[in-house]
Amino acid sequence: MTNPRSEEGNRLKGIAVSPGIVIGKVRLVDRSRVKILYQYLISDEQVSREVKRFKKALSSTRKQMLSLKKKMPAQIKDHAFILDTQLMIMDDPKISESTVETIRSEKMNAEWALKKSVQEIRQLFEQMDNGYIQERIHDVEYVAERILRNLSGIEQESLSEINERVIIVAHDLSPADTSEMNTGRVMAFVTDVGGPTSHTAIMAQALEIPAVVGLESVTKRVRDGMLMVVDGHTGEIVLEPDDDLIIFYQEKQLALEEYRTGIERISHLPAETVDGHTLAVKANLELLEEVVPARDHGAEGIGLYRTEFLFLRSQGKGLPTERELYEDYKELAEIVAPDPVTIRTLDLGGDKFSSDLSLAGEMNPALGLRAIRFCLKEPKIFKMQLRAILRASAHGSIRLLFPMVSGLSEILEIKKILREVKRDLNKKEIRFARNIKVGIMIEIPSAVTMADVFAKHVDFFSIGTNDLIQYALAIDRGNEHVAHLYEPFHPAILRMIQQVVTAAKIAGIKVALCGEMAGDPLCTIILVGIGLDELSMNAQSIPIIKQIIRTISMKEAQADLEHIMQLETAREVRKYIVKRMRPLISILDQKGYYIRVS
Ligand code: PEP
Ligand code: MG
Repeated sequence: MTNPRSEEGNRLKGIAVSPGIVIGKVRLVDRSRVKILYQYLISDEQVSREVKRFKKALSSTRKQMLSLKKKMPAQIKDHAFILDTQLMIMDDPKISESTVETIRSEKMNAEWALKKSVQEIRQLFEQMDNGYIQERIHDVEYVAERILRNLSGIEQESLSEINERVIIVAHDLSPADTSEMNTGRVMAFVTDVGGPTSHTAIMAQALEIPAVVGLESVTKRVRDGMLMVVDGHTGEIVLEPDDDLIIFYQEKQLALEEYRTGIERISHLPAETVDGHTLAVKANLELLEEVVPARDHGAEGIGLYRTEFLFLRSQGKGLPTERELYEDYKELAEIVAPDPVTIRTLDLGGDKFSSDLSLAGEMNPALGLRAIRFCLKEPKIFKMQLRAILRASAHGSIRLLFPMVSGLSEILEIKKILREVKRDLNKKEIRFARNIKVGIMIEIPSAVTMADVFAKHVDFFSIGTNDLIQYALAIDRGNEHVAHLYEPFHPAILRMIQQVVTAAKIAGIKVALCGEMAGDPLCTIILVGIGLDELSMNAQSIPIIKQIIRTISMKEAQADLEHIMQLETAREVRKYIVKRMRPLISILDQKGYYIRVS
């Protein structure tokens, strides 16, 4: 199926953050700035009235947001923390007190003074070299916008009266907006701003609504009632599609539906090659709530539980307690049992950052105090998490995984601390799995080189290709300017994976791969041929990866691998793989759009 050409101007490309294809009518939501902002100086006598006016607007905003929080749809209740963050921002002295102070000292009207506070906060955020923090400026702006609307008496457009199925197009959407909507009528979300970790993305995924964000100026290009195609797989938007394009996307929609129902019916079958080699296929998880969908997609356990999010969620409220962590891990282990859960200790730093921990301001956070380095420097936090994991290990099958290990001395230090924590639990007669398996992530080139040595000290390896590619090829994984160089098929990466697997086999330990490569259908044949024992991936990819494994033989995969390892460039590898996979999966376009497994 080739994509019929359409006028380039009608086609916009954004960031696909929630999958699905829809064709429908636009509902433009005016969430852009308050258009006319009155700025004037006030007299001494007017100061107290102006302060009162600002405080009243603050209090009305708070009431509105609390009421929206109450109305939040059940599926996104777990994200109420975002509204809490916005409520906290409103009460932050940098907004409330500093605006009042500006009104008093500079005699500015309330709107102007508030704008000044927001500008100061923006400057502060911009100095922080951290994507997560920088995205939070949207929360500040959202809150300020609501206060401004209350100050100016402009009614916020109500989203509660959407009475037909529409595609919501907005500058940005917050959980408060989503709470107001009848989400059953929303076909898709499309926004000017935002990235993969934006609120729109998080909400859309939780509600299973297709979404494309980061289109920059889509709100200026559309009007209410306009016909639009949203492709939540490729990030493409088509405005006023012609008949050919509508038919093209309808066929794509249909094929996708067929594929989904077909493949999900068989996703519980084991990932066994036709000549009898079985790989464990597991899910990567960020939040406990994702565990049931993961199992429904055929996950045979959790291969990577990223534990940062409980720490990020509690921003501003201090660190989570040992009890909170224990309960989260225990529940996870109980739900997943008898299958195993691999819990990775904190991987904060890099692009994941909490204001409750002193991690800010590093010049080069990816090479800084990240993950295990941070934990070894902060043994109190590390021990608390280890205690929580060990206690939870009495309630299911848990494995421990340590991120960003670069040398043997770190492994020895980790094991020493682990022994201390175990000893302490023993003394207090607290139950835990004494023989808990201990593994390390292999995601730094030095760990690849030392894999044969490390293998003598741990029970398993998990290869983190997301970081391994970043560190081996010197490509910042979050930098869009070098994203085209981020290449899993680079022969250097394939050799590194092979070296790690060989070291693991010689030492007789299991080796998994849990980077994005695990869920990429174009990589499967290589990973099977290399001899990985386990692949762990985002839950949506599990059915297709299992299906591909069931269609190939280990013998073929090894023969392919032998040929591939002779190739000298990523391009040659990709070309070979695409040709090789064509009979097995349909590749609709060069982006790799997989529809049917034959
Ligand atoms: C990886 O680096 O491949 C990985 C799985 O971990 P994260 O993406 O959390 O860094
Ligand atoms: Mg990593």
